[in-house]
Amino acid sequence: MRIPRSHPRYASLMQRERLVRAWKAGIVVPEGLIAHGRGEAWDYLMGEGTSAPALVAERAAAAYLLAAHRPVISVNGNVAALNGRDVVRLAKAIPARIEVNLFHRSKDRVRKIVHLLESAGAKSVLGLRPNARIPGLDSKRALANREGIFGADVVLVPLEDGDRAEALVRMKKTVISVDLNPLSRTSQRATIPIVDELTRALRNIEKFVIELKSDPAEAARVRRAYRKDGNLRAVYSFLEWRIDRLRRGAGVRPAPRRKATKAGR
Ligand code: ATP
Ligand code: MG
Repeated sequence: MRIPRSHPRYASLMQRERLVRAWKAGIVVPEGLIAHGRGEAWDYLMGEGTSAPALVAERAAAAYLLAAHRPVISVNGNVAALNGRDVVRLAKAIPARIEVNLFHRSKDRVRKIVHLLESAGAKSVLGLRPNARIPGLDSKRALANREGIFGADVVLVPLEDGDRAEALVRMKKTVISVDLNPLSRTSQRATIPIVDELTRALRNIEKFVIELKSDPAEAARVRRAYRKDGNLRAVYSFLEWRIDRLRRGAGVRPAPRRKATKAGR
């Protein structure tokens, strides 16, 4: 289907198209399409723009990824389909390793996702030959790689499942999640929950990585200043403000776009 650029929901419809195509190609599972819908609903509510507290969390995420000894980005089907290129760019900027980890795991699907990421420029993506298990998880999601997620000190887990986020935190890793639902177990359990849409989050983190790389003192200050509880409270206040605007008849117009600049400190 061809979506006209002038359509008011062009970006959202394009994302759906990309996911459906990836489902046909065996990269995304049907459950992934449902999970995307849950995310869309939250994005609508939040005005389809990055909130100020999300920017703060994205900057903290960048600072922690830069300080990591073994940073790893975990990729599933939806992430690969929607943002394979952005993941690869971010991994190069940090630099970090990439590991494919699937809830509905099949060797064929892992292989396809590894191939997709490598076509986008990634080098030696992990996931095909797991050699460790994350303790406390019964599903195939426990399968991990010692050189990747299992041995990582900081893990970025976009669109994660709550169980694994919790298990990774128990392993004392710094877990950075990207999930539009601030109430999900993932957002609640992660060390640094980013409540933002995946594309916006990955691009903002990358910009902050580039900015903070040349300013280690500022990166250290950002790490010291970040507080998860305060940040999540600010997310709830933002939602309250959005709903209050709707109550006062201000309409459903998106919140003003925020750029990943120093204003987001
Ligand atoms: P949890 O397991 O953490 O309690 P859940 O079971 O509700 O959460 P999952 O299906 O495990 O959710 O994970 C998908 C999550 O990702 C959902 O919470 C959804 O809001 C979020 N999500 C889906 N698509 C996007 C996206 N493009 N950007 C950001 N978040 C998204
Ligand atoms: Mg879940």
